Amino acid sequence: MLKDKRAVVLGGAGFLGSHLCEALLERGASVVCVDNYLTGKRRNVEPLLERTGFTLIEGDVTDGVEVGGPVDFVLDFASPASPIDYAKLPIETLRVGSHGTENGLKLAEQKKAVFFLASTSEVYGDPTEHPQREEYFGNVNPIGPRSCYDEAKRFAEALTMAFHRARGVDVRIVRIFNTYGPRMRLDDGRVVPAFVAQVLRGEDFTVFGDGKQTRSFCYVRDEVEGILALLQSDYRLPMNVGNPTELTILDFAEAIRKAARKLKLPGAEAKVVHRPFPENDPKQRRPDISKARRILGWEPKVSLEDGLAETLAWFRSHA
Ligand code: UDP
Repeated sequence: MLKDKRAVVLGGAGFLGSHLCEALLERGASVVCVDNYLTGKRRNVEPLLERTGFTLIEGDVTDGVEVGGPVDFVLDFASPASPIDYAKLPIETLRVGSHGTENGLKLAEQKKAVFFLASTSEVYGDPTEHPQREEYFGNVNPIGPRSCYDEAKRFAEALTMAFHRARGVDVRIVRIFNTYGPRMRLDDGRVVPAFVAQVLRGEDFTVFGDGKQTRSFCYVRDEVEGILALLQSDYRLPMNVGNPTELTILDFAEAIRKAARKLKLPGAEAKVVHRPFPENDPKQRRPDISKARRILGWEPKVSLEDGLAETLAWFRSHA
């Protein structure tokens, strides 16, 4: 279904966006990648410039998105996505989730293309329902330190459904849970790159709070498979795509240690140092992926052990 189609990927030079561009090209689609390199990196997509069907445009999607010729899919992956990045760029984050998403929706409307929104588990905030089903409305502090991202994505979902209902734009909405793998920025502040950087440098793991908060980590290859399955489905409501294997941050530190031992990395025996627990940091998170299983026939295949081994090996040779 993707062969000979044309996709515009907003934020295509980011961590997830760049893996998505690559996967679309591999399936025979041509790709127009738009990025202003605010948190993405040109080097993430530079190798793709040699492939036929890949075009790179430097531009800020909040200023408008213009693409000549036919377009079949507009995929909106443009936004700072780590708590540290969006805390530094709160206005840019709100603008890209509102103006940027509207510009992407208008492009999809004009081209009669499918609009695909990268949303997030952050729409559930610090969840009081566990695991999180798509029907859960969430528990978000509208003025807290994470609100610029959470509310931008909640608004982006609302805008996407409004364009669908009022203007007939064909839409998909994926709620992405914690995803990791090669090409994350080691300094983006998220727990995976933070612990990877620490283990490569032989430093202690910085665990925020007591480390008993939970997350569920999905390897990027699995995440992209799920995204492409949703894109090709006809399901028009939000869908969780993530890995339901939940673990505490302390357990996650142990999993990194184990992977580091196998690769004989300097921090294989790293200790844990505790740092203050960030305000509004969700205490638990695990996707209910029954819908993805039932409707897409998708579920993650890569174990944490294998995903971490690939990730550490990649960073060892690239960092
Ligand atoms: N975290 C941590 N140490 C770090 C970075 C993050 O203990 O150096 C914790 C953070 O408090 C959160 C979890 O790890 O509970 C996941 O954080 P991340 O920033 O990766 O993403 P989030 O799921 O919070 O958006």
